[in-house]
Amino acid sequence: MKKIIILSLLCFLFLQSFSQPNPRIEPPFWWTGMKVPDLQLLVYADNIASTAPRLVYPGVKLLKVNKTDNPDYLFLDLQISNEARAGVFRIDFQRDEDVSYSYEYELKERSPGSSERQGFGPDDVIVLLMPDRFANGNPDNDDMPGMLEKADRQNPDGRHGGDLKGISDHLGYLNDMGFTAIWINPVLENNNPKYSYHGYAITDFYKLDPRIGTNEEYGKLVADCHKKNMGVIMDMVFNHCGHMHWWMQNLPSEDWVHQWPEFTRTNYRAPVNSDPHASEYDYRRMQDGWFDTSMPDLNQKNEFVANYLIQNSIWWIEYAGLDGIRMDTYPYSDQEFMARWIMRIMKEYPNFNVVGEAWLQKEAITSYYAGSESERFGYNSFLPSVTDFPLHFAMQKAFHEDESWTEGMARLYYVLAQDFLYDDPLTNVIFADNHDLSRFYSLMGEDFDKYKMGMVFLMTTRGIPMVYYGTEILMTGEENMGHGYIREDFPGGWQGDKINAFTGEGMDEKQAEAQEFLSLLQNWRKDKEVLHSGKLLHFVPESGIYVYFRTNDEEVIMVVLNNNNRERKMPLPERFDECLNGKRKAYEVITQTEIEDIKDIFLPPKSAMILEIK
Ligand code: CA
Repeated sequence: MKKIIILSLLCFLFLQSFSQPNPRIEPPFWWTGMKVPDLQLLVYADNIASTAPRLVYPGVKLLKVNKTDNPDYLFLDLQISNEARAGVFRIDFQRDEDVSYSYEYELKERSPGSSERQGFGPDDVIVLLMPDRFANGNPDNDDMPGMLEKADRQNPDGRHGGDLKGISDHLGYLNDMGFTAIWINPVLENNNPKYSYHGYAITDFYKLDPRIGTNEEYGKLVADCHKKNMGVIMDMVFNHCGHMHWWMQNLPSEDWVHQWPEFTRTNYRAPVNSDPHASEYDYRRMQDGWFDTSMPDLNQKNEFVANYLIQNSIWWIEYAGLDGIRMDTYPYSDQEFMARWIMRIMKEYPNFNVVGEAWLQKEAITSYYAGSESERFGYNSFLPSVTDFPLHFAMQKAFHEDESWTEGMARLYYVLAQDFLYDDPLTNVIFADNHDLSRFYSLMGEDFDKYKMGMVFLMTTRGIPMVYYGTEILMTGEENMGHGYIREDFPGGWQGDKINAFTGEGMDEKQAEAQEFLSLLQNWRKDKEVLHSGKLLHFVPESGIYVYFRTNDEEVIMVVLNNNNRERKMPLPERFDECLNGKRKAYEVITQTEIEDIKDIFLPPKSAMILEIK
């Protein structure tokens, strides 16, 4: 009898040592061989702060245990030296003599060359996909257990069922179109009761939304893209989380998010960050106000929040093998922190690229957010790339306005003439539309000629072109009708769709022509180094004709935009001889015709020409 009792007791003790509840730990695992040895773990469990964490693993030191005003959290500062090998170690959280919680922490081996990865750049054409709206490759994940919002394709603001499988099923299409990088709107869990499809109210920073896919599928999609020489840009949000985020029920500390006596919205006036006349009141509203009732404002001045976000971005780069990040609402986050974040990313991945969404009206304010060699305005973001909204706003109007001193083609001219504001304007991400803006074809009044002018300009001026899904098949939608209307389902992405833009079935002639037009331009642009890194030289628009050149040592490309509603003769080539050097022969890219003498060209009304000068 005594024996049995002892045996049972041993058995119980044995089992107990392996059956401690696990705390939530984020990041859930990490890597060896990172350039920065520091790692800070967020640990969440009931009364965890009353325990003492212990770990024993060669090369890993527990430097410091940080407590906050909430006893359910600990932040552990680890140091992972170069001697640490990949493997698993246990972190025990002891209270008195007992182990209250335990976690098997894994250090993975960093993949070779990870640090040297080349981020996206001016040699890319990016396609922006909204995963819920592009293609539904897996109808089984449209509704998932535990996910509050169910699919409803009839609701423009509801979930429509698109997913990663839908994207991976159509990589061939995207590749054929000439896209070389895919920016996918946020894919992380958004477990909100409604309006969850857009992905910008994240409820778990380490987990894909199961209706979009799994973490493993996301990693696989990136790997599949790489096989086709396409990169993936992850859409990240540091400014806010979703109000249904798990930590909103029990914040790690009182100042984890910005608290207001009553709900206070940001004023959405990003210029206050750089405005020398700004009031403290406006600045606080801009920085600390909530983006929306469903989007609490994260406090990046809190060191633990800052570390959490920085590590989260590195975790995804390393885990999924990313080629770039698009940072949402860039000016709304603490600017000192954002600069620190970029420096840390660049330390870990010196050739990586990050584009910050700087939704601003004016060139100077946009350039404030662009990184530079030296501090220019008492501030340096170090941000390698910004979204070029001023150029977009010019494109909204330029192609369907009558010419005047400041209108029509002059709009494009004036924006580009301010490029002295940027260290490297070639890295600006340029676009005709995106998921927050009216679709370009609608902006052009559904005029196909104006649309084509816009696309030629996008593919040949300086910058990294980005194309919103569906723009290649003339999808329409006005922003003022509601966001659902500018984010409609891509035809052919759902079983039973009458129109299938992947196969061409059911498309009208113009759609097919637009698709072919853009495919031609984008595939042509791929190998045109002169468009990636060549000099841009433009001539003052005259009589509604805008002429510019892209040149390098090997090539001269001349682009001619005739914004007139009638045919015009080509301006006298002598005016452009500093680029033409007396040459008059050319190959016209769009019509694929040889031209004996460019001076004989007639420019059709509302047209664009791309001339490879011979
Ligand atoms: Ca689905």
